[in-house]
Amino acid sequence: MPRRAKVAVIGGGILGLAHAYVAARRGHSVVLCERGRATTGASIRNFGMIWPIGQPSGEMHRMALRSREIWLEVLRAARLPHLPTGSLHVAYHDDEADVLREFAGIAPRVGYECEWLDPSGVIERSGAVQPKGLKGGLWSATEFTVDPRLVVARLPEYLAELGVALHFGSAVTHIDLPWIELGVGSYEADVAILCIGDDFETLFPDLFRVSGLTRCKLQMMRTAPQSGGWQLGPSLAAGLTLRFYKAFQMCTTLSKLKERVAREKPEYEKYLIHVLVSQTADGAITLGDSHQYGVCVDIFDRPEIDELILREAETFLQLPDFHIAERWHGVCSTHAEKPFFEAEPAAGVHIVTAPGGSGMTLSFGLAERTMAGLGL
Ligand SMILES: Cc1cc2nc3c(=O)[nH]c(=O)nc-3n(C[C@H](O)[C@H](O)[C@H](O)COP(=O)(O)OP(=O)(O)OC[C@H]3O[C@@H](n4cnc5c(N)ncnc54)[C@H](O)[C@@H]3O)c2cc1C
Repeated sequence: MPRRAKVAVIGGGILGLAHAYVAARRGHSVVLCERGRATTGASIRNFGMIWPIGQPSGEMHRMALRSREIWLEVLRAARLPHLPTGSLHVAYHDDEADVLREFAGIAPRVGYECEWLDPSGVIERSGAVQPKGLKGGLWSATEFTVDPRLVVARLPEYLAELGVALHFGSAVTHIDLPWIELGVGSYEADVAILCIGDDFETLFPDLFRVSGLTRCKLQMMRTAPQSGGWQLGPSLAAGLTLRFYKAFQMCTTLSKLKERVAREKPEYEKYLIHVLVSQTADGAITLGDSHQYGVCVDIFDRPEIDELILREAETFLQLPDFHIAERWHGVCSTHAEKPFFEAEPAAGVHIVTAPGGSGMTLSFGLAERTMAGLGL
C-alpha cells in the first residue's frame, strides 16, 4: 500500500470521520489514523442527537443545518439507520413556557422551523410526555437521532469503500510535514487535520497549554430496549435544558427561569444537570446528563448525579421501564469562549476540536468549513 496521501486525518471520532468523508468526496486521497483499535471517545458515548435547534442563531445554526443535510446524505449512502424524531422541549413552569413561547415567536424569523404547542398538541405528538402539570412545548421537526455506537463503528467501513486508508491502533506521535509518525512507521501527507478530541498532551502540547481548552465530563445512562416496540417519538428536553443551549439566549424571559432554578434546585445547579431523552434503533432510552468542567475531571462517577437525573426525568417522562441497564460517562473537549477551537501550529497542520456538547450535530458542517478554509 502506498504510504502517501494528500490529506491525513488524525482521530477516528465523529470529527475525524466527517473530515475524512468530506476530503474523500472532494476527490483527495485520504488516510485516517486512530489511536484506538476502535473509537472509544466522546463520539461513541453521546445521545446521538443531531440537534440544530440548540445552536445560536446565525453562523452556528446555519452550520448545524448544513451538517444535518450531509449527515442524511452519508447515512443513506452508508446504509445506516436514523430516527427522524424531531424534538420537543416541554414546559411545566410558567417561566419555562414563557421562554419557549418567546422563542417560538422570534426563532422562525431567523431560520428555525419550530412552533409552540398547547398541552393537547404536545400529547398528540408524544405519548411519552407526562400530562400532569404540562403547560405546553416547543416542537421542531428538524432534529433526528442516530445510534452513536453503530455509526462510529460502521462509518469507517463506508469510508474504506470511498478509498480512505484506515489505520486503527495507530497513535500519531509526531508531525513534521510531509512526515506523519505513526509509531508503527510513517506516512507522507501534504495536509494534516487533527481531530484529536481531548488529547491535549500528545501532539503540540505547548499550543494546547495556552489554548483555553478544557474538558467536560458528562454522566449518562441507558435503559434496556423498551418492550413491545414502545416508541419514544420526538427526543425530549425540558426546562433545565433551556439554561444550556445557546439558541435560547435570545429570549429575554430566560433570566427569570435561570434565577428560579438556581434558587429551587441548587443540586442541579451544582452538577450542571439537565435532562435529555433519546431512543436508539433497538428501543433503548438514553438519559443524561451532568457537566463537570476542568482539565482533570473526576474519573469516578457519582450515584447522586444519576439519581438527580432520574428524579428530574420522572417529572416529564412516562416510560414503561425506567430500569437502568448501562451507566457511563463521556469526556469531550470544550472552550469557554469559542463554539469550537481551530489552530494551525505549523504550515499545513490544522487542528479542529472542542465543539463541546454539539460535536455530533456540527461534525459534517465543521468538516466542510475546514476544507474550504484549506482550499481543498
Ligand atoms: C456524554 C456526551 C453526550 C453528548 N451528546 C451529544 C449529542 O447528542 N449531540 C451532539 O451533537 N453532541 C453530543 N456530544 C458532543 C459530541 O459527542 C462531541 O462533541 C464529539 O463526539 C467530539 O468528537 P471528536 O471527534 O472531536 O472527539 P472524540 O470522539 O473524542 O474522538 C477523538 C479521537 O481522536 C483520537 N486521537 C487522539 N489523539 C490521537 C493521536 N495522537 N493519534 C491517533 N488518534 C488520536 C482518540 O483516540 C479519539 O478516538 C456529547 C458528548 C458527550 C461526552
